[in-house]
Amino acid sequence: MESSDNILKRIIKKPNSDDSNIIEASNTISNKKVTCSICGDRGIILQGDTGVPCSCMEQKKILNSFRYARLSRELISCRFDNFDLDFYNSGTSAKEHTINAQKAVQAAQEFCQNISDNPHEVGLLFSGSVGSGKTFLAAAIANVLIEKQTKLLFLVVPDLLDELRATFDSKSETSEFDLLDIARTIPVLILDDLGAHNYTDWTRNRLYSILNYRTNEKLPTIITTNLSFDEIETHLGERTCSRLLQMCRIFRLSTEKDIRRQKYEKRERLS
Ligand SMILES: [Zn+2]
Repeated sequence: MESSDNILKRIIKKPNSDDSNIIEASNTISNKKVTCSICGDRGIILQGDTGVPCSCMEQKKILNSFRYARLSRELISCRFDNFDLDFYNSGTSAKEHTINAQKAVQAAQEFCQNISDNPHEVGLLFSGSVGSGKTFLAAAIANVLIEKQTKLLFLVVPDLLDELRATFDSKSETSEFDLLDIARTIPVLILDDLGAHNYTDWTRNRLYSILNYRTNEKLPTIITTNLSFDEIETHLGERTCSRLLQMCRIFRLSTEKDIRRQKYEKRERLS
């Protein structure tokens, strides 16, 4: 069977993606080949007649968890310390926007704190319009968890759907089972941009199977979406909607103006 690293490389690497923008979260870690004097890098040692994993495998697993994350350069810079509440503090609903953002960031930080003691912590769903800071919060969670060496997978939903379609069309070496298995069983799954994409019955079913498995196994999932719950139901169906309610606490992010636009205007001194 193909290694999960290779599978994940393909999940994230789209044919047209700008390679320079994709760096591994592991780039701060030495890439020197680890030579284990205990197992000679075989990963297995003999105990009596039985082969058991060598202790060095644990370290490899941790390094793998960095590769799993595959955050873009931009997302690696999303930190709770840089989360700027000022972006929410404008317009006639400034107070409401700010309170909502405070609640969401607090929940995100609590999630990061609690997950160490409880791997079955309830997940989070951040809903809000484009440029309301949803992906920032999801990435900030990912960055904290990577530092804590928690295994996670950050998947952008349209990329996941592309990959699922490719496995369906047999254009990919990744088998559907491998890909779904990783998304189902990874300790923390982040699904970014669960939007109004072109779902087919087939991709809809696969997405449900991931979420259903994770709900049953109480594995936390972090989701960002620009859809309302009614819209999620329309696009993904009632049963997926019901799983999301079961597995996630829901937070709404709202701003008077797209945060990317606010940042642009600030940079170009237009406001
Ligand atoms: Zn070893």
